[in-house]
Amino acid sequence: MMDLKEKLTVLNKWEFKKSAYELLIATAYFDDETIAPKSGQNYRYERLALMAGEIYEISVDPKIKELLFELEKEELDEVTKRKVKLLKKEFEETAKIPQDFYKAFTKASLEAQAAWMRAKEQDDYTIFKPHLIKLIDYQKKMALYRRPDSDPYETMLDDYEEGMNKKAYDEFFDLIKKELLPLIEKVAKKQIIKDDFIHAYYPKDKQAKLMEKINCLLGFDKSWGYMGISAHPFTSGFSNNDVRVTTSYDEHNISSAIYSIIHEVGHAFYEHQIDAAFEGTVLKNVSSGMHESQSRFLENYIGRRKSFIKNYYPYLQDLYKENLKDVDLDEFYRGVNIVRPSLVRVDADELTYPIHILIRYELEKGIFDGSIDPNELDRIWNEYYEKYLHVKVRSAKEGILQDIHWSGASFGYFPTYALGSAVASEIFHYMKKELDLDSLLEKGDLKAITDYLKVKVHRYGALYDLNTVLKKSFKEGFNPRYYIDYLKEKYQKLYQLD
Ligand code: ZN
Repeated sequence: MMDLKEKLTVLNKWEFKKSAYELLIATAYFDDETIAPKSGQNYRYERLALMAGEIYEISVDPKIKELLFELEKEELDEVTKRKVKLLKKEFEETAKIPQDFYKAFTKASLEAQAAWMRAKEQDDYTIFKPHLIKLIDYQKKMALYRRPDSDPYETMLDDYEEGMNKKAYDEFFDLIKKELLPLIEKVAKKQIIKDDFIHAYYPKDKQAKLMEKINCLLGFDKSWGYMGISAHPFTSGFSNNDVRVTTSYDEHNISSAIYSIIHEVGHAFYEHQIDAAFEGTVLKNVSSGMHESQSRFLENYIGRRKSFIKNYYPYLQDLYKENLKDVDLDEFYRGVNIVRPSLVRVDADELTYPIHILIRYELEKGIFDGSIDPNELDRIWNEYYEKYLHVKVRSAKEGILQDIHWSGASFGYFPTYALGSAVASEIFHYMKKELDLDSLLEKGDLKAITDYLKVKVHRYGALYDLNTVLKKSFKEGFNPRYYIDYLKEKYQKLYQLD
């Protein structure tokens, strides 16, 4: 018989081994997305598939499973208790999925991703449609295998944000509908902001210099952070002191790279500032909504604030005199905050963004409660865009095919994007009480801000769920009211509405 200390040593060794494989796989994927020649992809993917198999074997190790059941009965400290709980949940649920089903599911999802890519390239939904319908069915079954007594969509929502459910999301999105849709209508009627200068020609090489400047301003330091270039920006946290972000340049939209890099650096700070004791453990796996709250915080609440823009704008103006010499700070500030109902989520402005998520949430909910026929999804997608944002979908590429999520069977993920924005608002509300934000930002001093985020949010990692973190730090759980009030105040002022 092992004593508690020995049991924990075995568990820690196992987590260390698992994290070693994870590090190598993450490194290979970062390399694949950024610098590796495309033609070497087959060779890489074959080897990576083997690595994935190895890591799967480690993750389902029956000895560890047994150990977790034993540990659960012991007197444990808070951190170990949470770790055991999270790991045990993973083990139990994986064990409930029949292996043949799992294999078929993985195959279907790989085929669906390939089909989605082809469909998007050719702008032809019929290529992807049968795959999507199949995936919906698979994902429903998968959720039922894992938690036979739960509503499948509830299981999916809980996967991405522990503790969130249809009831909580319904209330949240009802509020968005009631309060933001009328505001968007008013703003849309009052087009007083110009942003043509944002869409002038901005050569890439100079944009790269600007990103250096912005990273420096944010405190994204080369001693722990690295920026690469990829088709779709993302963040990969290998460890606390090795966090990679990527960006992509649009030569006809200067705000695209600026705000995508600030967004990713927001994710990066989270990865960097999680308690170092959690490195290489399950406690680094922060929920999607919580993670997104940090990227949105930096992007919208800091990055789109005039006192922040003031720091980089003279440099930007000097880099591209031909486009910006007659555009003053105020005009540029308004330009990057323009509201324009549109078709594509990733290009959406801050105010209409949650409506894109509302649409996806209503569709997903309908698919899984049976009120929406999956065969009709594209038609209903277009209908909802017309109903809520008054825009007409003219091509599937800009409609149902725009996001990658469903092709990977990620249902229940989207709502966390809007949740993250709203949580950021709550943090912003409390931060302003303690920090003189504008004077810090005018000085270009972001350290006090990122330190605040570390103490109130980052350090906890996955030790607590979202609501518990908020309660611990602000004595108040999730409250979407802050988000609504913030958006109303900001856009009423910007658009001079009364
Ligand atoms: Zn993000």
